[in-house]
Amino acid sequence: DESLAAFDPEVHAAITAELGRQRDTLELIASENFAPLAVMEAQGSVLTNKYAEGYPGRRYYGGCEHVDVIEQLAIDRVKALFGAGFANVQPHSGAQANAATMSALLDPGDTILGLDLAHGGHLTHGMRLNFSGKLYDVVAYHVRPDTFAVDLAEVERLALEHRPKLIVAGWSAYPLHLDFAEFRRIADLVGAYLMVDMAHFAGLVAAGLHPSPVPYADVVTTTTHKTLGGPRGGVILTNRADLAKKFNSAVFPGQQGGPLEHVIAAKAVGFKLAASPEFRERQQRTLEGAQAIADRLLADDVRAAGITVLTGGTQVHLVLVDLRDSALDGQQAEDRLHAVGLTVNRNAVPFDPRPPMVSSGLRIGTPALAARGFGPAEFAEVADIVAAALIQEPSESFTAGLRARVGVLTAKFPLYPAIG
Ligand code: PLP
Repeated sequence: DESLAAFDPEVHAAITAELGRQRDTLELIASENFAPLAVMEAQGSVLTNKYAEGYPGRRYYGGCEHVDVIEQLAIDRVKALFGAGFANVQPHSGAQANAATMSALLDPGDTILGLDLAHGGHLTHGMRLNFSGKLYDVVAYHVRPDTFAVDLAEVERLALEHRPKLIVAGWSAYPLHLDFAEFRRIADLVGAYLMVDMAHFAGLVAAGLHPSPVPYADVVTTTTHKTLGGPRGGVILTNRADLAKKFNSAVFPGQQGGPLEHVIAAKAVGFKLAASPEFRERQQRTLEGAQAIADRLLADDVRAAGITVLTGGTQVHLVLVDLRDSALDGQQAEDRLHAVGLTVNRNAVPFDPRPPMVSSGLRIGTPALAARGFGPAEFAEVADIVAAALIQEPSESFTAGLRARVGVLTAKFPLYPAIG
């Protein structure tokens, strides 16, 4: 018997337990989603066996006739989805897409300008311990202390002062649209490349519910597993024919060896799904859900507890809860939500007075629950559970009451009912 359960009961038991956790809790981590069964079927296929160094039609291994079809489908679909002239679907992750993109455009020691990690940027946008911070000379821009919106005047001032070769726009924790046209203007002012990392909001862009960076950027990178809802992975897009080859050789042989064709097949399936009317409707529910949570957390009873929402709302799939004026810190807030069956992550807010391991914020996102089927009524209930858990000192019966409300929601939308 070669089944996983029979051969490796320890791993099987842990996977089964994780399925149970995903089913029985409410997933509100903004970077997570539930991949559909078709995506997981492709990812769990025989394609994991195949070496295919190179690109479709130009491989360094024999027997690539079928993986060529698959990779070309993924390329064609993602190009059509985002209106890009060129796509590389091989990056194993978002971080590797960014590493390859930067290595194609930059030499070590060149200057990059990116959003500070503590203000919502990603590790790969220049954090000290990341490859981006080690290889390149990093200048960070910030959000404004009054509005918490990206300070474009600072971006322009820093660009003029430091003449970066690359400006990175994009974020991991930021609730507003970015002004891509303005980033383009500033990049042109100093002759910099503009890279937009749309990892978080790519699904919204695909659905036409968020401005697209593709017409403005020299290069757009993304992950495929966040709002986009596919398998874990990365993609590089560009409309610059003169750069396309550089990105290809930066991914392979620059950063990676054999592409993960099973993941690329799953990406192709994900891109097909993302082009459907159902996907657009789901992204609409994602946005409405985030707005419902923001609205509830802006109500008087929550404000009275010193808790509010950064920027006073959201334009995307996530809400940043501001706990700077609350006795509750990010860790305690995360723990309280965890105790009632809600999974979120604590997050530093800009100008956070508390240390990063504790922090004064929560990042709450709706893509996973929208994928599960949640609509306005369920998101209103989720929002109320979040608010109640944050503002009330928990007793055993109070926590049990909220857990029961979570149980009603998880039972209403069974996750992966076809999996035993
Ligand atoms: N870029 C942004 C903006 C992200 O938020 C993330 C993920 O957190 C990444 C890149 C990295 O993606 P991965 O975790 O697949 O390396």
